Amino acid sequence: MKPTQLKPETLAIRGAKSQTEYREHNNALFLTSSFMFDSAADGAALFAKTKAGYTYSRTANPTVAAFQARVAQLEGGEAGIATATGMAAIQAALLTFLSAGDHLITSRSLFGTTAGLISGHISRFGIDISFVSQTDTAEWAAAIRPNTKMLFLETPSNPLGEVADVAALAELAHRHGALLAVDNCFCSAAVQQPLKLGADLSIQSATKGIDGQGRVLGGVVCGKADLVNQIALYVNSAGLSLAPFNAWVLLGGCETLFVRMAAQSANALALAQWLQTQPQVLRVFYAGLPEHPQAALIAQQQSSGGTVLALEVAGGQDAAWQVIDAVQVLSKTANFGDVKSTITHPWTTTHGRMSAEDKLAAGITPGLIRVSVGLEHLDDIRADLAAALALL
Ligand SMILES: *Cc1c(COP(=O)(O)O)cnc(C)c1O
Repeated sequence: MKPTQLKPETLAIRGAKSQTEYREHNNALFLTSSFMFDSAADGAALFAKTKAGYTYSRTANPTVAAFQARVAQLEGGEAGIATATGMAAIQAALLTFLSAGDHLITSRSLFGTTAGLISGHISRFGIDISFVSQTDTAEWAAAIRPNTKMLFLETPSNPLGEVADVAALAELAHRHGALLAVDNCFCSAAVQQPLKLGADLSIQSATKGIDGQGRVLGGVVCGKADLVNQIALYVNSAGLSLAPFNAWVLLGGCETLFVRMAAQSANALALAQWLQTQPQVLRVFYAGLPEHPQAALIAQQQSSGGTVLALEVAGGQDAAWQVIDAVQVLSKTANFGDVKSTITHPWTTTHGRMSAEDKLAAGITPGLIRVSVGLEHLDDIRADLAAALALL
């Protein structure tokens, strides 16, 4: 069967399986740093790339190759390149295509570490950067310059669930000869496929939804083969490669990705709607709510709201910390997309390195609490939060 004949749910389980002579049912784990040559001439041919094959696991490894090919199938991309972390994937996607003198436009509503990478490091290399509104496409258009090389965003945003119009921004980028790169980590390919909306690159932290059980770090960038091959050269040179063991864990994560995302999104929607009725909660942010101001756009881009919601309590940081400290079922940790529900305080953790001014400009307030909804019974998640909120 060709991959194009199979549904994504099937490809998540059966896509890109390679088979050794031992006819193993699960994907083999090639835990080896290098590969042997039949002869000196064979080694020369492999290094000259006149013969296809593996040489060294920083460059390529069969387990990693299976993982990146499987995610590429789910994203609707020709190819994928896996990296050690999601941040490595973002770094590789940016620095493969941006050089001194180029201009990058990016959303103000970025994950804190990504914002730190761009404003603290990428900015040191003579790359001009403009930060614009997550939701106002006209602001992106006004920021375009002759040297604009790339538009970068994540949608929905972390943790407020603000959505960028991927198709409109892809059209804008292409009209000006620029690339659109989308961090798809919040949704995963099970919920949103940015490449199908016109993006050139879809980037994911596989640490989140793809693993889904809080075990390993990983990242992957998918897109057209000519772009991904350029990124692969950077990943190899910079040593950002994904470890084979992590790729093997993440291949297993892909197999349950669709059912996990569907069940967790359903739990998240029900929890968001219940939180809206709680007197201590000022506002609930969730991309799956029917009254979300961008509900029509979300319906075009996403198959569900995803696993992450945020709530704002009155009383600022003290009140938010009181709620977080009181929960007993939810884990106090910054990961999301996990089968275990997690709770965190964006102001002092994920976005802690941003200035107060930048956080407020992005809509992150001291009273905001982020919850990633897992697979526990909804009654238990709700009761845990109800008891914590009752303290306010
Ligand atoms: C976690 C995260 C990343 C970084 O991924 P790591 O695997 O932790 O390096 C990037 N973007 C978003 C939106 C994230 O949530």
